[in-house]
Amino acid sequence: MIAFYKQNIDFLSEHAVDPDKRRYAVKEEGARHYIDIDHYGTYPFNELPHNWDSAVTKFSIETIQQNGIVPWWLQTMAYRLTEAFKQKNVSGILKLSAEIGHYLADAHVPLHASSNHNGQLTGQRGIHGFWESRIPELLAENKWDFFIGKAEYIKNPSDFIWKRVLESAAASDTVLKYEQQLTSRFPPDEKFSFENRNGVIIRQYSTAFSIAYDQLLKGMIERRMRQSILAVASFWYTSWVNAGQPDLTNLSGKDFTPEDVKEFEELNKAWSNRNADEEH
Ligand SMILES: [Zn+2]
Repeated sequence: MIAFYKQNIDFLSEHAVDPDKRRYAVKEEGARHYIDIDHYGTYPFNELPHNWDSAVTKFSIETIQQNGIVPWWLQTMAYRLTEAFKQKNVSGILKLSAEIGHYLADAHVPLHASSNHNGQLTGQRGIHGFWESRIPELLAENKWDFFIGKAEYIKNPSDFIWKRVLESAAASDTVLKYEQQLTSRFPPDEKFSFENRNGVIIRQYSTAFSIAYDQLLKGMIERRMRQSILAVASFWYTSWVNAGQPDLTNLSGKDFTPEDVKEFEELNKAWSNRNADEEH
């Protein structure tokens, strides 16, 4: 597997963001990235059945869709990836591997499991990108350790995913509360800084504020990233095992169909035409 995936690392990196691009092209896409689980009571949300059919029967498809479906969608993706391995369908394996990585990582982000996903309910707008983009961009490359060991076989993908989603939901309070606490004792003019990015002046959380916040969180973001990386590897591995461990050594050439190529182009078009305000 490592030879196959290493060979295609550029494709996988580039296409891991396709699900976000698709949100600007396909209406149903948005719900696949999150779950506003706090709409189902309080932690650990026992009211919400983990089984899709039971959940839909209890709450209606509209409600379930509206509140987000990431834990269920991940199981669909794992099933599709297993099928692609069975058929030794290289382009399918690559596309699905890249995309399941996206959804798995989203499921590890605490604010993807909260209706207050961008702090919009508590005057903390911007915290979403602060946690998942600004701080990793500042610290991941030089300060964080991403040697996470070997992929593991996941016996029960549903249980695994729900456990991660519940951890995210439990952590979302901390993510919001600590930002509020830090803001209240940080000099207001030092919370944000202005930086020149490719000729455009942008306002962003200052380096000092970002580092102080990361310290308050005691490594939470690095930990969640490590867990999500291991989860991605483990889902790839599990799908391959469940497909009967097909030999990947002679698979080469991506053979993308004209439909695949057309889809990639359309995703890029939708992405470049997006309204920046809608970014989640
Ligand atoms: Zn996403």
